Amino acid sequence: MNILKDQNLAKYSSMGLGGDAKYLSEIKNLEDIEEAVSFAEEHDLKTIMIGGGNNLIFSDKGYDGLVMINDIKGISDLGDNTFKVGAGEDWDEFVKFTVDKNLSGIECLSKIPGKMGSAPIQNIGAYGQEIKDTLTEVEVFNTEENKVEIIKNYESEFSYRNSIFKKNIGKYLILTITVKLNTEYIKPPLYESLQKYMDENNISDYSPASIRRAVISVRMAKLPDPKEIKNCGSFFINPIISEELQQEIIREYPDMPNWKQENGYKISAAWLLDKCGFKDFHYDNGMATWKNQPLVVVNEHAKTTSDLLEFRDILTDSVKNKFGIELKMEPVLI
Ligand SMILES: Cc1cc2nc3c(=O)[nH]c(=O)nc-3n(C[C@H](O)[C@H](O)[C@H](O)COP(=O)(O)OP(=O)(O)OC[C@H]3O[C@@H](n4cnc5c(N)ncnc54)[C@H](O)[C@@H]3O)c2cc1C
Repeated sequence: MNILKDQNLAKYSSMGLGGDAKYLSEIKNLEDIEEAVSFAEEHDLKTIMIGGGNNLIFSDKGYDGLVMINDIKGISDLGDNTFKVGAGEDWDEFVKFTVDKNLSGIECLSKIPGKMGSAPIQNIGAYGQEIKDTLTEVEVFNTEENKVEIIKNYESEFSYRNSIFKKNIGKYLILTITVKLNTEYIKPPLYESLQKYMDENNISDYSPASIRRAVISVRMAKLPDPKEIKNCGSFFINPIISEELQQEIIREYPDMPNWKQENGYKISAAWLLDKCGFKDFHYDNGMATWKNQPLVVVNEHAKTTSDLLEFRDILTDSVKNKFGIELKMEPVLI
């Protein structure tokens, strides 16, 4: 295993920004992790593991420690539609692999960019499915105990875009995840925008392959490809607000999309940004919001993470002043 010194991190984040890592290494197996962790201990370095960099932003200061890039490969068929997959496998290739087997469970999560091991971190979700619905367990290297552990689904503290892994970034290095899929197809009604696409295109086939095709079409019309345009997908989490505030806003904006939750009402961050005039909004430091979806912040020609954070503050301050709602960033700031 190579440990490289003073590596620029911008190419390891789909936002294309960030300073240097003091050290960086590619991890292919458990032995590499053990070696990297003991190197870090010897040199008194902090460590972080990353996947494809589609949901993280490196600060301009970079990372004064060791960045480990997960490249652990391998898919094991455990039978009963259950697969144990290396954290470094590509997420969408695995979705395609299961769809090709006519299995259901993650077809709505098609084309989410990133690696397998990152999926449980923020409990990835789209069009009504979340990884928590199919994940059975996660195999991790616990950096505090220096040992491999299995964390079961029910121990993972999954919630909307959150988990025990996201709450403890750096503690659990994910080695493999295990998912159990279904032979039964999903049933309508699907998530609103996906159902609308199915209906408008007269699609009545709800097989995983058909749903995957529909999801890809819907996503392509709305989201920029991070390989062509620097972005991290949704930049803000949909906020959950009190019933009192929801009622107050609804009185002025009866069309505000909102969904009842156990702890309040989830509302659309994209709608809030749109109402503040941020659709296709281009700022002079090179940051912008995406023309088809204001929730996606894109880096057109910004040079620093400070530019991005300045832009973020313009968006969040405006939403706070107009609606009294604090938007929170979805990507992890490192
Ligand atoms: C265009 C676009 C669309 C997107 N759409 C969606 C969507 O619909 N739904 C959704 O939920 N997300 C979406 N995302 C966000 C992103 O794709 C997911 O969060 C994805 O899981 C990130 O994977 P990654 O490998 O790039 O993670 P990274 O960005 O590399 O890492 C994310 C976090 O996980 C940690 N991490 C990564 N791998 C490991 C590991 N093996 N062990 C321990 N920690 C680890 C990192 O330290 C970091 O904190 C989108 C992003 C883009 C750019």
